[in-house]
Amino acid sequence: MTSQEKQELKEAIERKIKMTKSAIGDYKEMTKPVAPDVAIGRISRMDAINNKSVMEAALREAEAKLKRLEKAISKIDDDDFGICSQCKQPIPFGRLKAMPDSTKCMKCAS
Ligand SMILES: [Zn+2]
Repeated sequence: MTSQEKQELKEAIERKIKMTKSAIGDYKEMTKPVAPDVAIGRISRMDAINNKSVMEAALREAEAKLKRLEKAISKIDDDDFGICSQCKQPIPFGRLKAMPDSTKCMKCAS
């Protein structure tokens, strides 16, 4: 990886961290306890609860992703950054840029 590519990747990760953090904020807002408000009716309340569990799953996923992104950015200067954890081959730059939190090449991840 060239230093220019590394810089590009760093910026991509920082953007993704920012996006993920704002998504986490949104999900937290949407996973607030559902008020037992009789006015919204039983069906809407069921909907709200269903949506809530979907949002909670999305929140957990976003939090895990944020951790992976932060780990990726902290390791970007390591010699083994961008090396597949399984086959030890370099992960293609395009894949790293699209999914900087991936630690495996496309072949090993599938
Ligand atoms: Zn691999």
